Amino acid sequence: MGIETVAVYSEFDRDALHVRMADQAVPIGPAVPRESYLKIEAILEAARRSGADAIHPGYGFLAENAEFAEACEQAGLAFIGPRSGVIRAMGSKIEGRRLAQEAGVPVVPEASEKDFSKIGFPLLIKASAGGGGRGMRIIRSAPEFQEAFDAARGEAERAFGDGTLLIEKYIEGARHVEIQILGDHHGQLVHLFERDCSVQRRHQKIIEESPSPAVTPEIRRRMAEAALALGRKIGYTSAGTVEFLLAPSGEFYFIEVNTRIQVEHPVTEMVTGLDLICMQIEIAQGRRLSPDPARQAGHTIEARLYAEVPENNFMPSTGTLRVWQPPTGIQGIRVDSGVEPGAEIGVHYDPLLAKVIAHGPDRATAIHKLAYALRNFAAQGVETNREFLMDVLEHEEFRAGRAHTGFQLPPRQRTTNDALPGAVTRAYIEHAERSQRSLLPAAPIRYRNNPHPAPPMRFEIAGRECRALASTPDVEILKVEILNGGAGSVEALVNGCRHHFHIHRHGEDYYIRSNAGQHRVTRLPRYPRPAGAGQHQTANSPMPGLVLRVLVTPGETVKLGDGLIVLEAMKMEQTIKATMDGVVAAILVKPGEIVAPGQTLVEIESTEDAHEHADGANTNH
Ligand code: ADP
Ligand code: ADP
Ligand code: MG
Repeated sequence: MGIETVAVYSEFDRDALHVRMADQAVPIGPAVPRESYLKIEAILEAARRSGADAIHPGYGFLAENAEFAEACEQAGLAFIGPRSGVIRAMGSKIEGRRLAQEAGVPVVPEASEKDFSKIGFPLLIKASAGGGGRGMRIIRSAPEFQEAFDAARGEAERAFGDGTLLIEKYIEGARHVEIQILGDHHGQLVHLFERDCSVQRRHQKIIEESPSPAVTPEIRRRMAEAALALGRKIGYTSAGTVEFLLAPSGEFYFIEVNTRIQVEHPVTEMVTGLDLICMQIEIAQGRRLSPDPARQAGHTIEARLYAEVPENNFMPSTGTLRVWQPPTGIQGIRVDSGVEPGAEIGVHYDPLLAKVIAHGPDRATAIHKLAYALRNFAAQGVETNREFLMDVLEHEEFRAGRAHTGFQLPPRQRTTNDALPGAVTRAYIEHAERSQRSLLPAAPIRYRNNPHPAPPMRFEIAGRECRALASTPDVEILKVEILNGGAGSVEALVNGCRHHFHIHRHGEDYYIRSNAGQHRVTRLPRYPRPAGAGQHQTANSPMPGLVLRVLVTPGETVKLGDGLIVLEAMKMEQTIKATMDGVVAAILVKPGEIVAPGQTLVEIESTEDAHEHADGANTNH
């Protein structure tokens, strides 16, 4: 559009991609969102300094903040979004429901705290001011109610600064179907069809598609009409989304309006061929919308790639992105992302790394393309949900278009075939040692002039030492290449089939990837630690948080994966788990305490050490 852009950034983001892509960038404060991205005055000041005349709030942070929109309006800046009054009204789910009912749109049956059992179970308690699926609770029987209600109130107060709750009938087996709407400043309001966002984890979307496999032309027409009726009622301008639950009966119910562009807007863009951000800007400039701007052509599916650990309740994962290579050159694939190789994935911001969007003539083609793109997406250095997403795309229920909001795929415990990545790493290291050796270049690799064979190289994969590396007869190394900057590759025949492995080395970590998977192989010191040095591990806080509960007592025996501490972090409850079998040696925090990232919470000693200590104590007596 030829518009010059200005980025704002926190100290943490000083080297971020968006900062370098913008024409100008203005620092607005430290990493903590409250003191930068959520600080209205700092952002207005950045607009003044840089001479900006409009602000696009994106999604997240202040995007649905009425006070911010109002401050922009007062400062004479165009806020690219709806008017502040509309944002304020829809920021409350209770007010949204009221207006929807007035517009003749069906809403989910609601109950009051006093009379909660009137509408029957199950119920869903949610924060009126909530978002991102946080803090919701399903209640299946009356005795559960009060405790859950009180806990939800506290959580809503802490997370959203407003403890107002809403009790809805929990619609079982429903699909999340939403209608994209768009309004201009001349009274034109249009819809751009639906998106089905039924595949979620913790009530937050992870896969979205359009058209919805569950929506018939008749439902589409009625749902779009309902969305437009509400939009007209509130005088909606700019882009917005009206969310519904579609029950198995074919009936649908309004749940909320999101008064901003949504994370999943590329789905609509690819299925209609329109550019929603461009249209938002044109609307802000006063352009008129055409009354019939779009058609739904083919099928689009998006997957959200997060830095998180599916096997640990989808807890965010932090670290440095050592390898980052989105797939390129696949027709019909779009990748939206804001990170680069070397990016720090921290604790302060949402762990969304990228959105991968596939378009095809039909649903099956779009699924295949998306799965292919994810398989070829190199993302290493932090844990991601990449393989989990691939599993969902392959799942029968999803393939059949039957996944509803209750669809939950238990994350697979991945049993790595250690031998292959281990053998590849060993070949790579031996090649590197040989090519660097200046002394006795003709001697066989690992040659020693004494009768003892060199000890085998030791590796660790996914927290386990991998054995039997010396005997992998089905792997024949064909070629090893070492490039600059720690990168390289290995060609190998595995069971007679040729495979290509990319390698990226960082210190003792070797990031190996091939069509078969992505692994981090860590080279261990040549000699094991002397016996008795003690196996000792600590459970540390992955992020700043509040200790809610301590689940263990000193001296208690725990197993790998047992819960130790429940933290509230990123507005969610996170269970910190034991990383090995052992005995709780010390608990270093108390409920109610605020902890810093990396802070040690619990110390665990291996069981053998604990026994030794006990024996020692006996001898002393
Ligand atoms: P949606 O319904 O579109 O998924 P959410 O309420 O989950 O919306 O959040 C909107 C977006 O804001 C998400 O992309 C989320 O990643 C982003 N977001 C929310 N909080 C933060 C944060 N602290 N840092 C960065 N992004 C955030
Ligand atoms: P948020 O503001 O967090 O996005 P929503 O009200 O949009 O909250 O709900 C998020 C998700 O929670 C929905 O997509 C759906 O999966 C589930 N949900 C919300 N309300 C209900 C309900 N009444 N019955 C069943 N599921 C619901
Ligand atoms: Mg929602």
